[in-house]
Amino acid sequence: MADFETPELKEIPIIPHIKEGSMAHSKPYVAKAEFQEPLGYPGELVDNWEQVAVEKLGELTGKYRALQVFLDTCVKCGACTDKCHYYLGTSDPKNMPVARQDLLRKVYRRYYTFAGKYFPKLVGAVDMTKEVLDDWYSYFHQCSQCRRCSVYCPYGIDTAEISMAAREIMDAVGMGQKYCNEIIAKVFKIGNNLGLPEPALADTLEGLEEEVEEDTGVPVKFPLDVKGADILLVTPSADFFAEPHVDGLIGYAKVFHEAGASWTLSSYASEAANFGMFIGSYENMRRISRRVRKAAQELGVKRIIFGECGHAWRVAYAFLNTYAGPWDFLDPNYPVPQHICEYTYDLIQEGKLKFDKSENDHLTLTYHDSCNVARATRMGDKPGGQFTIPRAIIKATCNNYYDMPEDTIGEATFCCGGGGGLLTDDLMELRVKGAMPRMQAYKTVVDDHGVTHLAAICAICKTQFAKVMPYYGFGMTDVVSVHQLVSEAIILSDAPSDDDNDDNE
Ligand code: SF4
Ligand code: SF4
Repeated sequence: MADFETPELKEIPIIPHIKEGSMAHSKPYVAKAEFQEPLGYPGELVDNWEQVAVEKLGELTGKYRALQVFLDTCVKCGACTDKCHYYLGTSDPKNMPVARQDLLRKVYRRYYTFAGKYFPKLVGAVDMTKEVLDDWYSYFHQCSQCRRCSVYCPYGIDTAEISMAAREIMDAVGMGQKYCNEIIAKVFKIGNNLGLPEPALADTLEGLEEEVEEDTGVPVKFPLDVKGADILLVTPSADFFAEPHVDGLIGYAKVFHEAGASWTLSSYASEAANFGMFIGSYENMRRISRRVRKAAQELGVKRIIFGECGHAWRVAYAFLNTYAGPWDFLDPNYPVPQHICEYTYDLIQEGKLKFDKSENDHLTLTYHDSCNVARATRMGDKPGGQFTIPRAIIKATCNNYYDMPEDTIGEATFCCGGGGGLLTDDLMELRVKGAMPRMQAYKTVVDDHGVTHLAAICAICKTQFAKVMPYYGFGMTDVVSVHQLVSEAIILSDAPSDDDNDDNE
């Protein structure tokens, strides 16, 4: 199956002995000029790259105070060392969060601290060399920016921010990552990560309408570019065709239908994902976010709702107002933005959705909290809503549910192993090994409670699990969308009854 060994799942998690350099070979493909330049970066490694890198580091620590504080405050207490799924799965000590941070910190110290300038050896400061740059390229692409380590750090040091800064510096010297930069360039050119043009999207949605009507007898609509609709749904483009994502999209459409909502998708902003975050580029994140504003204004909508996507929700929740606001042209009675789970949950609370839970009786479920949703956002108006709301939806739509062990869910959730711009085949070994802690936790509920499926609300998690679960002996279809459960169980009030069907026979 692969030219690396899949880690063994153990009953009791074991902190691995270190294997120095065991993942030094893991590097994603470098972006070519055609993917670098549209993002405003040099096409290849610039001649004076050492100087550019050091200056960029100075610029970033000057602009982002948190970054400088993170680089200055680590006391090497070691609390974070065993918290990263990539360390647990690969045993490479440079995947310990503190060691990953140190790759950047030692250069920062050399050029931007008194001790590092005059007594570099004493404080572990080093020059910016090609060896350092290569190490950065390898290990800052072994961090999914999941922020789990920051939960356990007594100072709240966020390695994700340091990884983002390192990637921004690498882009600035002309050494960007192909997967992320190619995707961002596609969003600018066509509107979504997949490069799916408007006619293809319209065809896909038409096909979905036919399929759902055939299945339910109800003309559930998947509207595109409808001017004057109330709601603009911005969803990851994977929802348009990938499995199980598309089943989630069908779920959203059924919820809108049942609520009698007027909604639309946009062919211009046909992507919720915002990979600008993964490469640490606030400028690219801003440019992508502005597309949502333009679409909302042109369509004249009153509300914006985001579909199931972890990092997209993080960008929307944390940055949409700053980058694309003010949203004074939207209806002030609704949060901007709103998550589809909040929307569905509110309707459930109001008694406006009815479910036949037995439709999901062939499944026994658990729920994977996606990192970005869990540790960088909220949902609803109560603390912890990002944990309780998706679970409440699952429990409203199915009878069999069990949580994974407490230290692997909620704020302590383990990354799927493919987040942060690492969901590319050139990093398959890393993805499989990084998924080990989550797979281990999943196995405990499979063994103890007969769990058969893992539900998620993140497009990246769904794709990653579909790919890596078979490495651990699970099925590639054992991951489901939360709104897929909604779709299966929802009772559409205008569905033809059995009597109608009998009459037609
Ligand atoms: S942010 Fe996540 S992936 Fe990165 S070092 Fe911390 S735990 Fe590991
Ligand atoms: S837990 Fe925080 S202070 Fe301790 S070693 Fe890790 S990053 Fe440094």
